[in-house]
Amino acid sequence: MSQKDAATPMLRQYLEIKSRYQSALLFFRLGDFYELFYEDAITGSRELGITLTARNRNTPNEVPMCGVPYHSAQNYIARLIRKGYKIAICEQTEAPSKGKKIVRREVTRVITPGTATDPQILEEKEPCFLASLSGSKNRWAAALIDAATGEFIALEREAQLDSFLEELLSFSPKELLCKKDHAALIRNYFAKSDSDLSLDFKDQHISSRNNINEAASVSKNSKAPEAAPVSDSNPETEDGKKAQIEEVEVPAKDTLQFPLTITEADDYFSDLRSSQNELAEFFKVENLDGFSLTDKNYAMIAAACCLRYIRQTQKTAAGHITSIRYLEPGSSLILDSVTISNLDLIPSSANNRKTLLEVIDECITSMGSRTLRSWIMRPLMEIDEIEKRLNAVEQLTNLEIRQKLRKRLRCVADLERLVGRISLGTANPRDLLSLSSALAAVPEIKSLISNTDSHLLHELGQKLKDFSPLQRLIDDSISPDAPISTSDGNIIKEGFDQRLDELRTLSRGGKQAIAKFEQEIRSQTGIQNLRVKYNNVFGYFIEVSKSQIPKIPDNFERKQTLANVERFTNNDLKLLEAKVLGAEVEAIQLENSLFNEILEKIRANSADLRILANSLASLDALAALSEVAVNQNYSRPKLHYQDELVIHSGRHPIVENSIGSRFISNDIYLNNSTDRILVITGANMGGKSTLLRQVALIQILAQAGSFVPADSATLPIVDRIWSRVGASDDLASGRSTFMVEMTETAAILHHATPRSLILLDEIGRGTSTFDGLSIAWAVAEYLHDSPAHCGKVLFATHYHELSELADHLSGAKNFHMAVRESGDSVVFLHKLVPGKASKSYGIAVAKLAGLPDKVTQRASEILARLEAYELAVFREQEKGAAASTAGKKMAAQFSLFAFANENIIKEIGQADIEKMSLQEKAEFLKSIKSRII
Ligand code: ATP
Repeated sequence: MSQKDAATPMLRQYLEIKSRYQSALLFFRLGDFYELFYEDAITGSRELGITLTARNRNTPNEVPMCGVPYHSAQNYIARLIRKGYKIAICEQTEAPSKGKKIVRREVTRVITPGTATDPQILEEKEPCFLASLSGSKNRWAAALIDAATGEFIALEREAQLDSFLEELLSFSPKELLCKKDHAALIRNYFAKSDSDLSLDFKDQHISSRNNINEAASVSKNSKAPEAAPVSDSNPETEDGKKAQIEEVEVPAKDTLQFPLTITEADDYFSDLRSSQNELAEFFKVENLDGFSLTDKNYAMIAAACCLRYIRQTQKTAAGHITSIRYLEPGSSLILDSVTISNLDLIPSSANNRKTLLEVIDECITSMGSRTLRSWIMRPLMEIDEIEKRLNAVEQLTNLEIRQKLRKRLRCVADLERLVGRISLGTANPRDLLSLSSALAAVPEIKSLISNTDSHLLHELGQKLKDFSPLQRLIDDSISPDAPISTSDGNIIKEGFDQRLDELRTLSRGGKQAIAKFEQEIRSQTGIQNLRVKYNNVFGYFIEVSKSQIPKIPDNFERKQTLANVERFTNNDLKLLEAKVLGAEVEAIQLENSLFNEILEKIRANSADLRILANSLASLDALAALSEVAVNQNYSRPKLHYQDELVIHSGRHPIVENSIGSRFISNDIYLNNSTDRILVITGANMGGKSTLLRQVALIQILAQAGSFVPADSATLPIVDRIWSRVGASDDLASGRSTFMVEMTETAAILHHATPRSLILLDEIGRGTSTFDGLSIAWAVAEYLHDSPAHCGKVLFATHYHELSELADHLSGAKNFHMAVRESGDSVVFLHKLVPGKASKSYGIAVAKLAGLPDKVTQRASEILARLEAYELAVFREQEKGAAASTAGKKMAAQFSLFAFANENIIKEIGQADIEKMSLQEKAEFLKSIKSRII
């Protein structure tokens, strides 16, 4: 017998709906609960920590189930979405009524990691992008939609998939739609890379377009099965229910970051012609030329796919998506995910170190923070654009303007998402009040920035249109004390609608009449503690205590019997009830339709409101950069298209933020000829990594349009920043391996250009000394000599042998981090000075760390010998030009073995053989033999 045959009508309905949403967890509405059944229940109870129970327990028809209360479902849904699950919300779409065997149910929305719009699920300061990928071989395209704000972006590149994905991932999409074949390639990419992103392939089989289409049509046409009634409305009475509900503490928001969910969605991709038609129809345009999508065939396919998925999961028209922005290749500085993580640009779940974004995010609004984040993740390449931002930042360093502007921005809140909710139809009355106060702030903001001398600020000012009619509409209609929910009325102001005022008077009058009725009936019956009460199930009733029942007149009808009281009604109360409730119900219905009309009027302005919100977000981000520039003493960088990079007294923004004035600034000079590779040696802990990163961070800030932590900075436009850290640095976290380090290095050697900035920090450290040294040497030589890849390189290494590179390469220069030696200890000066470090000071650092004197003394002895030996080996290799890596390895092994055996030789020398017995001699020899390597 199949599951379906064995099921009750309600479960049959469940199974029928579930069959169309295989890949999602089906939240099936039963009265005040969402229930999960079968496999979904097992998954749900495991992931949410709620008790798993069963219907028909201990019978062959046992059905695992678990559920969450309707009123707190959002938190549970948020937790599942963060774990990468998809959720189909199945609602009762008609009220339960007498005689009806089963209520109709439909899936009203599918929530997936990339399509979430609910504030409980979304991170405030992060966008939530759904992405789709299309392309082949060396041409790839993607589209991205943020369903909460309506932002829609497309890109298409002549590139291999790996490098295309690097660009795509800088948007931190939460979900990626792709074809099954491409999913395998993506999986391969992640297996090779050391990205901080965690992938979620749990949902390999993805609900198809047809499925979702069907969902709407089938449920409309489907007939409820003819069978015995089920108690739909009161789940508390269902078997197993009481045991099952165990409210668990649900944090409002998990700190966990989203994994990237890969959704194989072949059915959502269609051919070029249909994709073009669909997009043109959606945007109501003849063709897509206006969006710069001409000839971007893959981008159009990806865009149509993304849009279709959003519309079919949200089941809305997605009217807030009003345009699509094509990002030209080369329009932003590229930062791959390893670099983003090495430079600590944005918060990540992989570590909790402070990030650049946290240091500079002085935004007032969350939408401002998201804008700033996108500027940091995709810095600009055009000097004109950068200068426009820098001018605006400079103008806003004016304290008075900035303070006033930021004060007004406090009233604006997260307008981007608010406008999104209005368009999606999920806005509540309070959202409209927030919109009104945002709109009220606009005229003053506009006049403030009109007094500045900045082209960008004026441009943004022009986008701040006058929305006073909308603001008036809200102020006239929405009560300032309106609740969040629309179900209980009290949304619309008195005086806005005549009919509503009449109904309210009727309802109020009715309530007074009920109070009067209570008085009358008390004196009529002589029951002083008689009360007229109301509840949702029984409506109005007369309640008397049991002892008073004999005084009840004959014309009272019994309604309900409880332990101590008896409840009645009579004809007068029934008439009154009809009057009061009728007016109240009608008033609530009217309020809802008035509210929807108001929403509709606002929605008609979606496109303009989105422009307004985006402009205010940019203003907020610019003002935040000014705030940082002033408070943290940053200066305005100068940018040019030549090759020199000159930083005077540069600081690391994040380290400086935590140690303040103790931070030692440094100068840096790089060009593409004489100072192309800086080999930076020096003590561990000397500040090499900090220096490397600070150069990159200053460059990123400058191209993002921010002032920079330096006394002055003259910088070239850089096309890409690469930052790689030697494998052993990361081994503790168990993520990196030497293989990953080499894969990443290979990517640099293939893709770096003369306009790239390359940070190599302890490259080659993940293998044996001579291997590592040789690789590091060869990498530096390659970057120096290859015309196509000779970017600017900062090469930090503790192999002070590498400083010899400067003798061989015309573009390499030696620098080291200065230390002051006093006695046998060292003081780190954190100052970059020309020339090579004389030694690496590892032992001095070990001493500082508290290694016993005996160990550090012995280490010094060994070091002296190793260095002497190492030099000899190198000289030998210099002579024999054909020395292979394997040869070097053997030499390194020989040197280490020689030192290990040296102790044994010492032991033999010191042994008093004369005095040993034969037996002792034999044992001594045996022991020696066992230890010789
Ligand atoms: P290792 O080789 O061990 O990785 P390193 O030379 O790369 O060391 P960093 O990690 O850059 O050294 O710096 C070590 C510490 O020194 C940092 O944690 C930082 O607190 C401090 N430091 C680095 N640079 C400076 C500076 N310019 N001014 C003040 N303190 C600094």
